[in-house]
Amino acid sequence: MRPTGFTEFSQFAVMFVFSCAAVPVFAQDAANSKEVQAVYPDSYALYLDIHEHPELSGHEVQTAAKLAARFRSLGYDVTEHVGGTGVVAIMKNGTGPTVLLRTELDALPVEEKTGLPYASKVHAQDDGGHDVPVMHACGHDLHMAAIVGTAAIMAHSKDTWHGTLIIIGQPAEETIHGAQGMIDDGLFTRFPKPDVAVALHVGNGLAAGQVGIVPGVMSSNADSLRITIHGKGGHGAAPNTTVDPIVIAARTVLALQTIVSREVQPGEAAVVTVGYIRAGTKNNIIPDDAELGLTVRTFKPEVRKQVLAAITRITNAEAAAAGAPRPPSIDHYESTDAVYNDPALAQRLRVPLEQSLGKQNVFIEGPYTASEDFSAYLAQGIPGFFFSLGGADPEKLAQAKANGTHLPSNHSPLFAPDVDPALHTGIAAEVAVLRNLLNTSPKGLGD
Ligand SMILES: [Zn+2]
Ligand SMILES: [Zn+2]
Repeated sequence: MRPTGFTEFSQFAVMFVFSCAAVPVFAQDAANSKEVQAVYPDSYALYLDIHEHPELSGHEVQTAAKLAARFRSLGYDVTEHVGGTGVVAIMKNGTGPTVLLRTELDALPVEEKTGLPYASKVHAQDDGGHDVPVMHACGHDLHMAAIVGTAAIMAHSKDTWHGTLIIIGQPAEETIHGAQGMIDDGLFTRFPKPDVAVALHVGNGLAAGQVGIVPGVMSSNADSLRITIHGKGGHGAAPNTTVDPIVIAARTVLALQTIVSREVQPGEAAVVTVGYIRAGTKNNIIPDDAELGLTVRTFKPEVRKQVLAAITRITNAEAAAAGAPRPPSIDHYESTDAVYNDPALAQRLRVPLEQSLGKQNVFIEGPYTASEDFSAYLAQGIPGFFFSLGGADPEKLAQAKANGTHLPSNHSPLFAPDVDPALHTGIAAEVAVLRNLLNTSPKGLGD
């Protein structure tokens, strides 16, 4: 996930960040509580280890084993290899609701440039057989460290909750197929089906010590398209004997820009990006084909449908206008739905977060144009709560805002959360949310 971009703080939030530039925001009671302090050293050690030893999507073998060992030693009933490298850890504690808490396991093919003493130097083979650098550039290492701390606190304080806690380590979030892989491997049939699913994501949009809640649609629908335009190749000096797919591709790219600017209703959010064009081998050869790679982001299902239909219409029409020998091939090879935060649940969980972290550290935010396969769990009819965890050094964030710049976003080679306060806060926030949910009847969660 890439939680930057569309973040809209409430006016209060913006004022707060600016007006408190010099004041450390990391001053909450729960994050500094004895129970968090007690588990922090082990969580931090795990963070350093996992950060230094990242693994690519679908290959999280060592990472999963490290988590499974920790959960087992805490008394959880652990199953490994669910949907590939997925880990399921269950603790039953009397009657009550079933709550799922999720972390991702995977890292990214990014070369770390943070200069940190524990920076990753790992290289691995990607699925295409290429040697790539690997880095936890999305903060999933911090999510894992937090979840292990949370798991320890919940295991040590069974008098504070009742019900069933399911903690999962999900592979392959970055390739948006790991959640579905775990579901297809029986996550909700071999194990108890949760009444609520919870997750968090760290990012530099908020200061470490803070959390953000988006009631309703939180992240965007994401669709990946591969379009191959079929022309007719030939000599570059005799274009009259060819149908040039590069010219069609160029016209198509420009025409696609009119979808958001001319077709989508003003005020509705939509993004159509052509991330690559591939065609040709030599300057005096007109190739047979040209390929375009697109990412499409939308919030509303009706806008998604409209944008995808417009892409097909425009792509076909441009090829027809040029006299292409056949229509383009449009391969819709990846898609994921928006994450929808149950609004009543979000309002309800705001209260324990505010009690735990301080009212001034909990923000209501607008949606992100990032995407997340956490939506796959919600598509199974499970209400969800996905919240954001501040990762930015408070002073650096205030400075960046004052200068109109941005701190490195997730997926950047420079992404480096302010670990100490962010990890303390992540643990405190997860515990607060779980204790709230695990102190109700299952029916109460649907209210
Ligand atoms: Zn990511
Ligand atoms: Zn992520």
